[in-house]
Amino acid sequence: MRILFVSSEVFPFAKTGGLADVSASLPRALQAIGHQVNVLMPAYRGVLAAAQPLGVRLRHATEIDGHGLRLFESRLPGSRNKLWLLDCPALFDRAGNPYHNESGHDWPDNPVRFALLCRVAALLACDAFGLGWQADVLHCNDWQTGLVPLLLHEQAARPAVVFTIHNLAYQGLFPESAFHALRLPARHWHPDALEFHGQMSFIKGGIVFADRVTTVSPTYAAEIRTAAFGCGLEGLLQHRSAVLSGILNGIDTSVWNPLRDPALAQGFGATSLTEKRVNKRAIQSELGLAEDADSVLLGSIGRLAEQKGVDLIAGALPALLRGGAQFVLLGSGDSRYEQALAELSLAFPGRVALRLGYDEGLAHRIEAGADIFLMPSRFEPCGLNQMYSLRYGTLPVVHGVGGLADTVVDACEASMKDGSATGFVFHEPSAAALGECALRAITLWRENPEAWARMQVRGMRTDFSWRASARAYEDLYAAALAQLHAARCA
Ligand code: ADP
Repeated sequence: MRILFVSSEVFPFAKTGGLADVSASLPRALQAIGHQVNVLMPAYRGVLAAAQPLGVRLRHATEIDGHGLRLFESRLPGSRNKLWLLDCPALFDRAGNPYHNESGHDWPDNPVRFALLCRVAALLACDAFGLGWQADVLHCNDWQTGLVPLLLHEQAARPAVVFTIHNLAYQGLFPESAFHALRLPARHWHPDALEFHGQMSFIKGGIVFADRVTTVSPTYAAEIRTAAFGCGLEGLLQHRSAVLSGILNGIDTSVWNPLRDPALAQGFGATSLTEKRVNKRAIQSELGLAEDADSVLLGSIGRLAEQKGVDLIAGALPALLRGGAQFVLLGSGDSRYEQALAELSLAFPGRVALRLGYDEGLAHRIEAGADIFLMPSRFEPCGLNQMYSLRYGTLPVVHGVGGLADTVVDACEASMKDGSATGFVFHEPSAAALGECALRAITLWRENPEAWARMQVRGMRTDFSWRASARAYEDLYAAALAQLHAARCA
């Protein structure tokens, strides 16, 4: 199949979260099993320099909605996947991140920026630019691509359209005026289309009009049909149940390989677990923590957002630190949480290392050096860090929701007996429940190193690669295409 994969972020060129990792690794995995997967993303500032395009596909400045644009062609690093970069300097060549400026304020023209990405994706997939390549399947990701299914669904000759929700909490909501400014057909200003309680919703375009809607874990696919996790879209998602499914994300096992990870002080694997200690000492030294093998080192990495339960960590930590634990957190985001964590590091000097910012290498070293990884997300569509932790022999303590529930097996009596345990799961999103669960983990780490090592090996040997999930997407694409053909012939 020829697949066009559209995403607002692709690692290593632009990344604010797991979407970028998925957008780099799923297209590669699909290409590896015989498909031709071209990826489209915006050329944000610095991307053209980093991606070193091999050429320009749209030589003459083409104009869409009054925006001059060019299309550059490159490759996903180390792959045969074509990477198409949508260059429109007026909209994308800016300081800041893909969605907001350097002070964290959303770009006011985000609807225009991502509507352009959607229009170009829809045109490219149908070869409207005359590049001699037409997609069988167009795979869209998150709200930034939500208008693509809407733009295509009434078109006679079109690819099958798949829309993946990586996080339902981000919906691309804008004032009604944005809808009118985009000159979309007036009939789409309706609760059955893009209107959501008086606002324009990009994500609804994807959910309502795609041939298949997926999300990134089976448990999250079930959760989002309920009021607790549906962010107001649960009714629509229930209505779309027949085409809605969950496919667990994989991880890039070459980027996240503890045996051959250039960021680490020392490579290690399931048969050389003792070498992990070298990484613990190295990260303690790097962070200014006491180089003490007997202090359990807790780690956490991620966006400082309500979703991630940072407040639960801040609430549970004092007791754990008083009990002798060390803690490192790498992340950035909401200043409320940065403040709470800064206070904690002042209260426990030498026991807490707080690194605010984004640092890929440090993320690898924390995964390798920590003993336990804390991931108390209130909701978690899939989550990648718990899988990185499992692969690096760092046992995760997680809230049992979404992809966390699908990837971590709690160390209960039965799972310890049959050898399936890989981590620690709690069920109430509270600091007390997290603290209790972390204490359960720390106690096992202290008192039963053999059982701990068995769990580490089990986690390190679990297959989190894209192999199985790429096959699941392949089946889904084939089913969507077959249905489209059947509808056309009817
Ligand atoms: P989400 O997509 O909700 O942010 P995920 O766990 O799915 O959460 O993916 C987050 C990705 O971003 C992981 O690859 C993680 O290592 C990375 N990450 C998040 N924050 C940072 C940071 N401050 N420094 C380095 N990597 C980070």
